Amino acid sequence: MISFPQILFGFFSFALVVFLFLFILTSIRERQVRAVIISLLLLIFTLFGTIFSLIFFKNEILLALDVSFFLSILLLFFPFMRGKAVLVVDPQNRYDERDIMFARARYVRGTPQYRDYYSRRPERKKIDDAIRAMPKLLSPGGKYYDPVRSAIAKNYFEINKKLASLVEGRPADKKKKIEPIQATRLLKDMARKLGAVDAGIARLNPAHVYSYIGRSPGRYGIPVNLKHHFIFVFAVEMDFKAMVRAPQLDVVIESSQKYLEAAKIAIAIASYIRSIGYEARAHVDTNYRLMLPAAAVDAGLGEVGRLGILIHPRYGARVRLGAVSTDLPLNVDEPITFAVQQFCGECKKCARNCPAGAISSRKSRNVRGVVKWSTNQAACYRYWREVGTDCGICMRVCPYSKPNNFVHNVIRFAATNSPLSRKLSILADDLFYGKKIRI
Ligand code: SF4
Ligand code: SF4
Repeated sequence: MISFPQILFGFFSFALVVFLFLFILTSIRERQVRAVIISLLLLIFTLFGTIFSLIFFKNEILLALDVSFFLSILLLFFPFMRGKAVLVVDPQNRYDERDIMFARARYVRGTPQYRDYYSRRPERKKIDDAIRAMPKLLSPGGKYYDPVRSAIAKNYFEINKKLASLVEGRPADKKKKIEPIQATRLLKDMARKLGAVDAGIARLNPAHVYSYIGRSPGRYGIPVNLKHHFIFVFAVEMDFKAMVRAPQLDVVIESSQKYLEAAKIAIAIASYIRSIGYEARAHVDTNYRLMLPAAAVDAGLGEVGRLGILIHPRYGARVRLGAVSTDLPLNVDEPITFAVQQFCGECKKCARNCPAGAISSRKSRNVRGVVKWSTNQAACYRYWREVGTDCGICMRVCPYSKPNNFVHNVIRFAATNSPLSRKLSILADDLFYGKKIRI
């Protein structure tokens, strides 16, 4: 006759077998060969181990194993320590857009911008000159340059630039009456229907607004004067299959396409808000007036990870952001935390895999009033110019960037709730997907 410890043991083993089976199917779909092989071996081991244990182990041993199984599940999934969010120390410290690498890369020798910038930041001149002398992104000379495929991304970026004239405009003379709850629902719905996977709203924190314009052509050095009260931020998902090919061309084609999609959504929403009589500005690639990852954190879209960009709870680093600032009254969302700070504190996979050594593997520290990890923008961008794409290796290897499906969501849920799960999932990620990727 079958005993209770045997039934319980059979149940736990069955649950593990089902999970491993789903993991194999998921890995096949994601074309992760190493993960398929290792999980298949684990599945075979579990099946034989279960049969062996049921035949040869006494009930007392099986009961002890049942109790250990039960305790492990509790330790792995029970919300013991969900973790802390990013610590904002000095929210008044605004950032000058002229300092970001994308702005610096455009300063042409002999121009007033060039003279102005390097008279104030002479220590950056040598490294920036060296980067400017390298082949441009998506141009001949870059490692992954392809005359036909590079032109796809180039074309998307060019269209994005042409959209600059649509980001701002005068609102209609008469304000239409709309309740914040209705306006909030309407904008989120609109963003989703236009292609966003998530959207959130925050009060616009002036500390996240750039102090001076750096990137918009012809507007270098103009003080940013963004007085809107709310910021509507949304995320567009980047395709996992393209991301796993980082740093090849597929990544920059994907990101340029998603920047374009984000621009379409932001411009459509800003234009709609203005049509009902409220002020609104779309913030799109090369034409931002604020730091989007910081605003996205405020709007509850995720947390900023070690790699320096937003990590979304379901899509990880595989998102592109867009935003609309407005004075249309809206209901705000709360920031969220899912233990990214704790996870990144131990993981360091992006830092280990970054070919430019641009991501810090040290502890987070106070960077302009926010406790976070510092990244070396110049080293990162220099690598982009070397390969001619926007790299994306850090986004590719980040364990949070796995697709939004049952198997990965179970692992994300466990890592959010339990310190033990975080440690195990970091080890498991290295085991199943490799500690270091081959480029
Ligand atoms: S994009 Fe590439 S070079 Fe830049 S930080 Fe990430 S891995 Fe490093
Ligand atoms: S790879 Fe690891 S350390 Fe880097 S951002 Fe992702 S979770 Fe954090």
